[in-house]
Amino acid sequence: MEVTAATASGSPAARADRWRHSLILVVTRRCDLRCAYCPTVKDGEPDLSADDARRAMALFVERYGGGDAKLFGGEPLLAPDAVRAAVRAAPTSVSVYLSTNGTHLDDRWIAWLVAHPSVTLTLSLDGHEADHDGLRRGGATYASLVAKLPKLLRLPRFVVTQTIAPSTAARAAANFRHLRSLGVQKFNLLPGYYLPWKPAQLAALEANFQAIGDDIEAAWARGEPLYLRNLFVRAPVAFYNTGFVVDSDRRIYANNLVLAGNLDHVRTRASLGTLDTPPTEAALEASAAAAPELLREVLGDALIAATADADAALTRLCNRLYPAYFAARERRTRRVAAAP
Ligand code: SF4
Repeated sequence: MEVTAATASGSPAARADRWRHSLILVVTRRCDLRCAYCPTVKDGEPDLSADDARRAMALFVERYGGGDAKLFGGEPLLAPDAVRAAVRAAPTSVSVYLSTNGTHLDDRWIAWLVAHPSVTLTLSLDGHEADHDGLRRGGATYASLVAKLPKLLRLPRFVVTQTIAPSTAARAAANFRHLRSLGVQKFNLLPGYYLPWKPAQLAALEANFQAIGDDIEAAWARGEPLYLRNLFVRAPVAFYNTGFVVDSDRRIYANNLVLAGNLDHVRTRASLGTLDTPPTEAALEASAAAAPELLREVLGDALIAATADADAALTRLCNRLYPAYFAARERRTRRVAAAP
C-alpha cells in the first residue's frame, strides 16, 4: 500500500525538509487489491529480501544518521521477512512507518505491532462501506477492517489514510465523520493524484475540505484529540515520495514515481544505482529536483494541473487549520502546566 504518501501541504518549518531524510523502502510491488486510484505496477517484480532490507536501512543510517523510514508496496505485509528485518535494523534515530491495506493484518501482526510500539501503522480505510469497497476492485475489505479496528485503535501509533477519489469527493466529509464514528482519531487525507478531476469534483473536494476543517476546529475547541498528519508533512512532488528510494528490485531512485505504470518506461533513466552502487547525495538531490519536470513530460499538462488543483485544496485546508492547531496546543500545554 503506497498511498500514505506525503502531499505538498504546508507545514511547520521544523518539519519542512524532513522528506530529505526519508528512506522509502518498496518491499514488494505485489498486492491482492486493485484500487481504482492506484498507479502501482504490481506484477513481474521481485520482492526485497531481508538482507537487502537490512542493507538499505544501514545505507540510510550511514548517510543521514536517522529520519523517517517508510515501508511501502504494493502491500508490504506480503513481504513479511523484509518488513521485520527493516524494523529490527532501524536504530532509535529512525521513525518507521508501515502502510497497509489491512487484508493481511491478523492477530500475529497485531501482536508484533504491540511488541514494536515505535512503528506507526497506517491503514487505508476510505469511509463508508459503499465508497471504500467501491474503490477496491480486488475485493471488499471494509467489513474485515472494521472488525479489526478495536484492536488497531489500541496501538500507540495508528493512523488511517482516507483516500478521496474524484468519484467520492462529494462524500469526503461524510466519510470522514463515519471514520470518526468508528473511533478513528488520527487521519491522513489523500486526494487521488494524477487523476482527471472534473471542475465539479474539485468544487466538491473544496467544499468537503471546508466541512472537514469545521469538524476538526470544533473538535479541537472542545479539547478532543484529533490528529491530521497532513499538517506535518511536506514534499516537493505531490503524492510521490522523495528521498532515498529503494525499489523491490534493489534499484535506487530519488522518488518513487517510477512505481506508476505510466512512468515504468522511465525507470532506467531515473535509476541512480543499486544497493551495491548507491548514488551520491548530490545525484539524489539533482534527480529529486528534476522529478516535477519528468512528471510533466510524461503525464502531460492536464493531469499535472488537476493534481495541482486537488493538492491546492488540501494545502488550503492545512493553512486554515494551523492557527487553530497552535491555539489548541497552547491550551493543552497550559492545562498540563496547571495540573497539580
Ligand atoms: S492496496 Fe490499493 S492502493 Fe495499495 S498497492 Fe494495493 S491496489 Fe494499490
